[in-house]
Amino acid sequence: MADRVIIFDTTLRDGEQSPGASMNVEEKLKMARQLEALGVDVIEAGFPISSDEDFEAVRTIARQIRGPVIAGLARAIPEDIERAWEALADARHPRIHTFIATSDIHLEYKLKKTREEVLDDARRAVRLAKSFTEDVEFSAEDATRTDLDYLCQVVQAVIEEGATTVNIPDTVGYTIPSEFTKIITTLRQRVPNIDRCRLSVHCHNDLGLAVANSLAAIQAGARQVECTINGIGERAGNASLEERCTCGTICSHSPPACGRRRSTRRASC
Ligand SMILES: [Zn+2]
Repeated sequence: MADRVIIFDTTLRDGEQSPGASMNVEEKLKMARQLEALGVDVIEAGFPISSDEDFEAVRTIARQIRGPVIAGLARAIPEDIERAWEALADARHPRIHTFIATSDIHLEYKLKKTREEVLDDARRAVRLAKSFTEDVEFSAEDATRTDLDYLCQVVQAVIEEGATTVNIPDTVGYTIPSEFTKIITTLRQRVPNIDRCRLSVHCHNDLGLAVANSLAAIQAGARQVECTINGIGERAGNASLEERCTCGTICSHSPPACGRRRSTRRASC
């Protein structure tokens, strides 16, 4: 696996959840074309089961945007994963992105499930997604408020099932850089099969730290960052694509951490 930072843009999924940012299929396709021109590696095109329009948008982008990986979001339940695959099947590089919450607070109040049940759901979801495509991303929702031993267990399990990217989201924008460093470092030290996946981060900006947390995670070994144009997204938004990618904070290193030459890639290097 090449040691470079993958830029995963979720303007069309998380970004669209910010008030006033809804787009129709045509607008989403236009945005996807711009993201492709910018040179992002992965476009999360939507959440296919959430509505027929979103399904259509993901399917249209999957058929027309041929450079980047096209990802579709799915909860860790079979109907979501099957619907995501229906939308993605024609993509040149499809990715199913499945997720389930792993923090005790989400388990108790949202999912009403035990840790064992969630671990099983995560395994089953990745196994099903993997039956459709090689490229499977798993997100442990609310990872930064998850018990670290349990997070290690979940990450190990989903890698065993074939997850190729494991995302550690700061879902509620709760963490700080030193804490994120500790989480990523612990996962890399304790999860025995961690080398078989790419670690990813997804940071929300409630404390104004989304970009700082993303950079801390990269320094600790994460190799995919999730971001949006102008940092739009749920509540305070996400890490912004342009702050992280064009400021040179990452890419001034030689060779650039993202593996692309700035001279040949103008905007999203
Ligand atoms: Zn998010």
